[in-house]
Amino acid sequence: MTTTLVRDVRPWGGDLTDLLVVDGVIAEPSDGGAAADVVVDGAGRLALPGFTDAHVHLDSSRIGLPFRPHSSEGRGLWDLIENDRRHWRTAEASVTERATTTLGRAIAHGMTRARSYAQVDADCRLERLEGVLAAREHHRDRAELQVVAFPQAGILLEPGVPDLLDAALRAGADVVGGLDPCGLDRDPVRHLDVVFDLAERHDAPIDIHLHEPGELGRFSLDLVLERVEAHGLRGRATIAHAFVLADLPADVVLATAARLAEWDVAVTTIAPGGRAALPVDVLLEHGVRVGLGQDGQRDYWSPYGTTDMLDRAYQLAFTRGLRQDALIERCVEVATVGGAVVIDPDAAWRHAGGRGLGSGCPGDLVLVPGETVTSAVMDRPAGRTVLRAGRVVAEDGALV
Ligand SMILES: [Zn+2]
Repeated sequence: MTTTLVRDVRPWGGDLTDLLVVDGVIAEPSDGGAAADVVVDGAGRLALPGFTDAHVHLDSSRIGLPFRPHSSEGRGLWDLIENDRRHWRTAEASVTERATTTLGRAIAHGMTRARSYAQVDADCRLERLEGVLAAREHHRDRAELQVVAFPQAGILLEPGVPDLLDAALRAGADVVGGLDPCGLDRDPVRHLDVVFDLAERHDAPIDIHLHEPGELGRFSLDLVLERVEAHGLRGRATIAHAFVLADLPADVVLATAARLAEWDVAVTTIAPGGRAALPVDVLLEHGVRVGLGQDGQRDYWSPYGTTDMLDRAYQLAFTRGLRQDALIERCVEVATVGGAVVIDPDAAWRHAGGRGLGSGCPGDLVLVPGETVTSAVMDRPAGRTVLRAGRVVAEDGALV
């Protein structure tokens, strides 16, 4: 039995207390704190559950490499796909190195679990997946990483993609990805048939990027939900972005949130700028699992991203114009336990109390200087300590 006593912290900004982690799980402080193997000095900092990045593209990241001006001339999805294809092989570092660096920096900021996409297509085949899997292996004691076999360039437009996705799932990917079944492949039935067939054969969850807006997005979302229901995949599907939910009339949003909740379909957002915000509160109030992610970072798609989930929590609050502390803290909940239960709907975070810091929750913690949780979102301070299963894995911005 290994015990870690985290002394003098303020869980979610509350009163000063100690947290005890026994064999990787938060326990009642009375359960042997006096005889702890390791003592961590919280020094009065806030204690939060470790951050979860529920939507990141580790295989495209250029974090840590020289900054390059954005090079795509067009703004359409296929323009960006082609721009990435022109450049990713000749980046200054390999996919493995870039994914490993990016994941390491995210952990140093306080992230202890993530869901990363790995592009699988006729151009890169499994090369990018292998880089992401290598990064997962490198950091396996510091963070949990779930990997999505992601058909970024569609499933039907180029030959061999369904077989490559099948190979990716056999090679170590955990989740089947899909993408804009109408807008990209222009054949939603065949696209979704491939995705749901792979999910069934590999007993894998599904994660579908849905950028499609308005009526088109509503049609695609409907097709996905029909299949979730037909296959009985309760708790096994995620809709990423779900821009359509920001476009729908209020009564349709309410009905859709209820349907998502009934089938326990999760939604993830990257808190995008330049468009209407996802109705996060409506989803949460219906019990829909909602996670937050960094998306691609400083890559051939976008110059944004810092690997710090506290920056992204700020962005989620800022893009929604939030001011009240309770609402801003809710953004941090989405960035921590929200994403954690997107990745694993059965995780203890979902059922235990204490907003992810109660007895029975995993001992994944980030200690952050700050007066209150909201002030920490505004300041995004340095001086953090990160624990994974009760073990210190990063201190003051550097991996231990
Ligand atoms: Zn994405």
